[in-house]
Amino acid sequence: MKVSAAVVEELGAPFRVEELELDEPGPGEALVRIVASGICHTDEITRHGDLPMPFPGVLGHEGAGVVVAVGDGVTAVRPGDHVVIGWPSCGTCRNCRDGEPRYCARLGEALCGGGRLLGPHAGRPALRRPGGTPVHSHFFGQSSFATYSLTWAEALVVVPKDAPLALLGPLACGFSTGAGAVLNTLRPAPGASLVVYGVGAVGLAAVMAARLTPATTIIAVDRHPARLALAAELGATHTVDARAADPVAEVRRLCDGPTDHALECTGVISVVRQAADSVGMLGTCVLIGGAPAGAEFGLDHLSTLWGKRIVGTLGGSGRAQPLIGALIELHRQGRFPFDRLARFYELGEIGEALAASRRGEVIKPILRMDH
Ligand SMILES: [Zn+2]
Ligand SMILES: [Zn+2]
Repeated sequence: MKVSAAVVEELGAPFRVEELELDEPGPGEALVRIVASGICHTDEITRHGDLPMPFPGVLGHEGAGVVVAVGDGVTAVRPGDHVVIGWPSCGTCRNCRDGEPRYCARLGEALCGGGRLLGPHAGRPALRRPGGTPVHSHFFGQSSFATYSLTWAEALVVVPKDAPLALLGPLACGFSTGAGAVLNTLRPAPGASLVVYGVGAVGLAAVMAARLTPATTIIAVDRHPARLALAAELGATHTVDARAADPVAEVRRLCDGPTDHALECTGVISVVRQAADSVGMLGTCVLIGGAPAGAEFGLDHLSTLWGKRIVGTLGGSGRAQPLIGALIELHRQGRFPFDRLARFYELGEIGEALAASRRGEVIKPILRMDH
């Protein structure tokens, strides 16, 4: 079938919307009509080579839409189902079996192999140009910067039909990552303090999630005053402008000592050190933001020995279904208002959406597909 998709021709090239051919669903696969797809920082760093996705290819990994067809043997979803496209995983490695499919042993291949992970056509891209040249697909199992996506059916998360589908794609990645770091990884105790470094889409999701816990001190650190103001509206009890003050000293002042938890959402190496230095004995620093490939960071050795934990997290950890389901219900109740972060663009406006995001004018750009 014919689809419109934003193709990246080679490393660093701009997105260009083209008409491509997409395969029909084979065994285990589902065809999803994309309603909308969020744009995530990971799409941008992949375009610049920090993840090894082959090009030409189609990016996009926060897709939401409607199942239109399924292949043989699919029982997880049916045509007509509203879905968020979750990350694919092999289902058979130790981490998948232990309920941590975000850490599938075949993660690299699953997210940016450029073709299917599983099934009779494993490894093969699903997209091609009208002349037959293959175009790499299945970025995070979906390549959702397109009007349709061929996915692995088991990776789909069915969502209620009365939920606002066009807004839900970012629950597959950015919003789940921030919320899951708080709700799955940190689980703050009554009276706990936490600091969020970088309040873009992921950091603001962490702030909104922290407000749902018994943590009583929630500090947002950023360089954009508008984002800090939004963080305060969404649940931060304190804000720190990193251009105006030393954030580590400010955190210590606000917490009357080190904080219990820090979440590093910027991927900036100097900020990683600030986040690690903000937590004290038995404290936890969660690394979330993606730094450029090959980046390294340093720590103070002695203070790390004090029972400090530095832990990475991907996608919010745990299984996608219960977290996404809970976040949709919390949103309906007005307790996780992620719609405040979104702004819609058309697929052809992807360049403008990225530029506005880089300038800090929009927190979560979402591309709406014209059908
Ligand atoms: Zn696995
Ligand atoms: Zn992402």
